[in-house]
Amino acid sequence: MAGTLEKIRQAYRLFKSIDFEQLNKLSKKVDLQKVMEGFSKLDDKQLKGLMKMMEGGKKEKILPEINADFYELHLRLSDEDRALQLKVREFMEREIAPVVNNYWLHDDFPFEVIPKLAELNVCGLTYKGYGCPGRSFLMEGIIAMEMGRVDASIATFFGVQSGLAMGSIYLCGSEEQKQEWLPGMQQFKIIGAFGLTEPEVGSGAAGGLTVTAQRTAEGWVLNGQKKWIGNAPFADVTVVWAKDLGDGEVKGFLVRKGTPGFKVDKIKGKMALRIVQNGLITMENCVVEERDRLQNANSFRDTARVLQMTRAGVAWMAVGCARGAYENALDYTRKRKQFGKPIASFQLIQNHLVEMLSNLTAMQSLVFRLSELQDQGLLKDEHASLAKVFCSLRTRDIVSRAREVMGGNGILLEYNVARFVADAEAIYSYEGTKEINSLIVGRAITGFSAFV
Ligand SMILES: Cc1cc2nc3c(=O)[nH]c(=O)nc-3n(C[C@H](O)[C@H](O)[C@H](O)COP(=O)(O)OP(=O)(O)OC[C@H]3O[C@@H](n4cnc5c(N)ncnc54)[C@H](O)[C@@H]3O)c2cc1C
Repeated sequence: MAGTLEKIRQAYRLFKSIDFEQLNKLSKKVDLQKVMEGFSKLDDKQLKGLMKMMEGGKKEKILPEINADFYELHLRLSDEDRALQLKVREFMEREIAPVVNNYWLHDDFPFEVIPKLAELNVCGLTYKGYGCPGRSFLMEGIIAMEMGRVDASIATFFGVQSGLAMGSIYLCGSEEQKQEWLPGMQQFKIIGAFGLTEPEVGSGAAGGLTVTAQRTAEGWVLNGQKKWIGNAPFADVTVVWAKDLGDGEVKGFLVRKGTPGFKVDKIKGKMALRIVQNGLITMENCVVEERDRLQNANSFRDTARVLQMTRAGVAWMAVGCARGAYENALDYTRKRKQFGKPIASFQLIQNHLVEMLSNLTAMQSLVFRLSELQDQGLLKDEHASLAKVFCSLRTRDIVSRAREVMGGNGILLEYNVARFVADAEAIYSYEGTKEINSLIVGRAITGFSAFV
């Protein structure tokens, strides 16, 4: 009795759910009797498939979150460090991302972001004292990555200020010099530059700079040229590395803006890092007082200490550049449709994406360990060089695949991959080319120096 009642209820519910108007319309188009007969012959699996097909397109597919930190390395950070990482990320996305393409296109620098960068309080992150936060090298690397993920030019500007320029003073300056310069630089009230490369001396800087320094009664007289010097066109102070004509050793000098005989011409026509303002510096009898000679820089070995410290940061920056390109490309491939389907659903596109992510994951793991070594005081030149070579090489591959999966839009600035493709070229060459960093590693593992 109860079973019969339930059957009547079911029939009633079914009857109520039928839209007779719709059924009537349908019956004019198809033979409903035949349709019913056909349906009744289908098995469960076929019926499910049919329902899925009919529902298709109605439900929005929920895609996984874009996560370029595939091995969740951020889980190894403390809450405080993770918060800082996210703060820098949010800053870059809010303040830099919207304006960056326009500045890049016009070869111009967004000076208005400097005070906002200062507010982040991340400049001179690892230095102790002088208003600096005294945090880890790992966090310094993560910040370089976060900046590079949005824009490699801003990351480079920051790296020159915080790493090369402040680092020269922090590692090679006297106590008075540190007190004089570092607090103002930490707050970006003083902008610094680092002048090592010359028009005719790049990779071979260790072998013989041609800019000379001659000690006289008035001070040190500098003569010669420096090329490629980031921030130099507007820097308040430029660290100039020059050969002392007295003892033949390389020494460092803090050259103040406006010093007579010190001229900076902006280098134009770059196809990479166009926001970074690079200068060609010409020094003609430029006199620097003894108090502005870096008091603890006595040979190129001291210059190399600065480079070793900052080279790890460049490897992290390369990771950021690759990460930005990967994330933008992945997002694009999930939205862009061809042949009626998202291009991310094609096997060949997925192959590119997975190759990119594999390299990116390897790079991130590598630099993470590199910074741990640096924090433990175990970093050697060859460690930093290996990371710089590997990451900048793989970055070139990643940005080129990112550009490839975007078709024509891959070369348009507005799609946020083209800039990374171009900028990767500069990262590849500065702070030691692939060849020079490979030679540093080669010397360490073989015991033979193959530079010349
Ligand atoms: C955008 C940008 C910003 C920069 N910013 C700064 C800065 O702020 N301050 C600064 O001082 N410098 C800066 N540089 C300079 C940079 O560090 C040099 O470009 C770099 O060291 C290479 O020197 P180079 O360009 O003179 O090339 P070269 O030294 O002339 O090298 C040319 C080629 O020869 C190869 N090569 C050289 N020697 C050897 C060898 N022994 N064996 C095998 N191959 C070799 C190189 O690897 C390279 O492929 C910047 C450069 C760029 C592009």
